[in-house]
Amino acid sequence: MAMDVKNKRVLVVGLGKSGIAAAHFLRARGARVTVSDSRDAVALAKEIPALLDAGIMVETGGHGLLTFRRSDLIVVSPGVPLETPELQQAIGFGVPVIGELELGAQFLRGQVIAITGSNGKTTTTTLVGEILKAAGLPTLVGGNIGRPVVELVAESTDATWSVLEVSSFQLETVDTFRPRIAAVLNITPDHLDRHGSFEAYAAAKARITDRQGADDYLVLNGEDKPSQMVAVKTAPQGPSQAQVFWFSGRRPIKRGAFVHGDSVLYLAAENGKAEPVMPVSEIPLKGAHNVENVLAAVCMARLAGVPAATIRSAVASFRAVAHRLEFVTTIDGVAYYNDSKATNVDATVKAVSSFAGGIHLILGGKDKDSDYTQLAELLRERVKAIYTIGSAAEKIARQLQGVVKMKAAGTLQTAVREAAAEAVAGDVVLLAPACASFDQFNSYEHRGQVFREIVTALAAERTGAAEV
Ligand code: ADP
Repeated sequence: MAMDVKNKRVLVVGLGKSGIAAAHFLRARGARVTVSDSRDAVALAKEIPALLDAGIMVETGGHGLLTFRRSDLIVVSPGVPLETPELQQAIGFGVPVIGELELGAQFLRGQVIAITGSNGKTTTTTLVGEILKAAGLPTLVGGNIGRPVVELVAESTDATWSVLEVSSFQLETVDTFRPRIAAVLNITPDHLDRHGSFEAYAAAKARITDRQGADDYLVLNGEDKPSQMVAVKTAPQGPSQAQVFWFSGRRPIKRGAFVHGDSVLYLAAENGKAEPVMPVSEIPLKGAHNVENVLAAVCMARLAGVPAATIRSAVASFRAVAHRLEFVTTIDGVAYYNDSKATNVDATVKAVSSFAGGIHLILGGKDKDSDYTQLAELLRERVKAIYTIGSAAEKIARQLQGVVKMKAAGTLQTAVREAAAEAVAGDVVLLAPACASFDQFNSYEHRGQVFREIVTALAAERTGAAEV
């Protein structure tokens, strides 16, 4: 049930993409909207005129305590920590605080598939969207990728499937959010700088199933202990009420999708007969982690009623989402891969595990309180040399000292050039930095784009040289 926001005083905190969308959405429904951002008016110059034109009040360069306390509702952006003192005060005064996901989901018509996890969200969300579209179902894709949920509302009908990528930050601020199908792909350490502890981070992800009932489905990773806990979690709402389905790349499971021999199989009911979906060899994405993403997608798509044959052809024609273990080119027999989205240690583990050996690995960027020693064994096994960049370089050097050959490259440009000079035919140069990008780049997309440009320039030079 959607809340009535007409004439309510609503404060939107944080003017990112979803905050701005939420402000306009609320205003269009008759709310008296104020937006507040700690950045100053100059930084927000592009956004302010349209907000004022729509009749939205704007507070920049800090938060007014009174603005917060006198609101009937606060919509907080995922980038703003709940610990922000003004927010805490407002909560103390009984003001409800929700996120844009909760707001949008209350107004969305049709059914929701929500996908969270530390890694694989975008790949899996995009894939599920493609499969549902291939099946001819009216499908919308958004949330933490692409369009904010409030922007999907107008297009949704009772027949719509909204496939939403949801982050742990978004799940911190849900209340009534009830996906028909929810998936937790994996829970590995990430964002510990914001969540404080692994337990708090895992608890935020578990909220995806808090409001689910017996008619809903929860899809979980059978090989990942922390996400298994989501099914049996004891606090605050008790164990999940949803029907639990599993996926596993390693062994048959009771109910869900798994790999057996060279086949992806789906088992709809315990003690039932497994249904073949597709050969593993038809999955066009690299790496065992992507097989897991496909298995999760198979589960969700079958639960949404898509036949196995449609799933098979949609998966087979799917291509890697940009910056996710994306093949760039081959130069002198050396393959270059862009996994700029590997912004945490586990994603880097998965990227390195996708190649048998001969890897020249570019690591570094902005540290997120990560433990790089977890990489040591795998690096020894498969990596020829590491090239460090960015502000985490010293910490990485300290933690991985003596593990494999290491060069302090400083910049991405130097790292690629040095790796190219060292690599021999059959090797792989891999950008999978295990860190955020904000020390040297605007975003991981920017970092991946720069990587591509450097590699493309190098390829042009080499061809030029060969022609002389
Ligand atoms: P997210 O949206 O959760 O960040 P992406 O699909 O964008 O997920 O992938 C993020 C990073 O994690 C990429 O480096 C990708 O290669 C890697 N990755 C993708 N799927 C998985 C998975 N299931 N487990 C671990 N790492 C993964």
